[in-house]
Amino acid sequence: MGPTTKPSLYAFTMEGLQDFLVEKGFAKFAAKQIYNWLYQNWEFDPENWSNVSKKLKEFLKTEMDLSLPKVVWQGLSKDGTRKFLIGMSDQQSVETVAIPAKDRLTLCISSQVGCAIGCTFCHTGTMGLKRHLLPQEIVGQFLAVTLWLKKNADESARLTNIVYMGQGEPLHNFDNVKVATEVFLEPNGLSLSQRKVTLSTSGLVPQIKKLWDFPPVNIAISLHAANNDIRTELMPINKAYDLSRLFEAIKSIPLKAHRRITYEYILIDNYNDRQQDIDSLLELLDKRESKINIIPFNEYPGSAFKRPSDAKIRWFQDSLNNGGCVTTVRTTKGDDILAACGQLKSMEEKLNLWE
Ligand code: SAH
Ligand code: SF4
Repeated sequence: MGPTTKPSLYAFTMEGLQDFLVEKGFAKFAAKQIYNWLYQNWEFDPENWSNVSKKLKEFLKTEMDLSLPKVVWQGLSKDGTRKFLIGMSDQQSVETVAIPAKDRLTLCISSQVGCAIGCTFCHTGTMGLKRHLLPQEIVGQFLAVTLWLKKNADESARLTNIVYMGQGEPLHNFDNVKVATEVFLEPNGLSLSQRKVTLSTSGLVPQIKKLWDFPPVNIAISLHAANNDIRTELMPINKAYDLSRLFEAIKSIPLKAHRRITYEYILIDNYNDRQQDIDSLLELLDKRESKINIIPFNEYPGSAFKRPSDAKIRWFQDSLNNGGCVTTVRTTKGDDILAACGQLKSMEEKLNLWE
């Protein structure tokens, strides 16, 4: 089946669906009923929507695309992390990872097939950009994974958090990621709280300046270095948007009270893990409004960098803490199935999925 040109039902925000239905001659309130069936009752067959008119059911089935992306492969890591390969209707695929923790189940979702930013430490970056994902393909990752878990693992499975930390640069696909995020937050639908959604960006300055026009979710900035030379080596985007331009843009992010910006810092052995890096970080960041998330580098086959020792990681964190920073160290999850950060890369070739 090739891609369809019919509008997808999952690409509509509540408001968008209301307008669309009214334009097609249906009642505005039907949008809420549809949202309720889909996102609160997990009922995807319009035939079973008892309070929806026959005429509207017919319209939805014939004039709209109700298909969801498919789980084409999944694998469970020893630590409970489950990686999914999600296939789209044009046979492109992206990876999505469900990460369990004490009281939550976080979905790490992709925003693009591949990525144009080309960071030198990132497995996805080596693919280049294939294409942006559509809103229904971003929402579809959440829906496909939830339905899979309910059917195969746990009837009551519920994803509680979302991080845009899979493949792709979410702000490069601003409009589609915005629509998908509005669907995730919709109170009459999935109803995720703004605090449970985190968008991670490599630092696209013009789009960061547009965040006033984006739902107020948590923002994480992939910093990785506190001086321009190292950052440019790691992230070519730093040539266009260096640290001074980046931090000028960050100042424009509307922060809700008590909220901090998270700075992701990949710690690479003998590279950005020195005393002078700690000093630069302490000088660069506003300690009251920042949180540093130290991500020990995840090695993957062919990667040029190494992960520092645990002792080194602890020293780096302690030094930042002593300097007055709030820090966390990201525990590596799912690395036995290459599901950890930066290890996500299409496995199509390996699995020959489309044969
Ligand atoms: N493109 C966005 C979001 C996806 S990447 C961004 O770069 O922020 C999500 C996080 O994983 C980023 O902080 C990224 O830098 C990190 N990451 C990429 N490759 C990694 C690797 N090999 N080891 C550890 N973290 C990595
Ligand atoms: Fe793209 Fe993020 Fe990977 Fe950089 S780290 S190449 S921005 S996905």
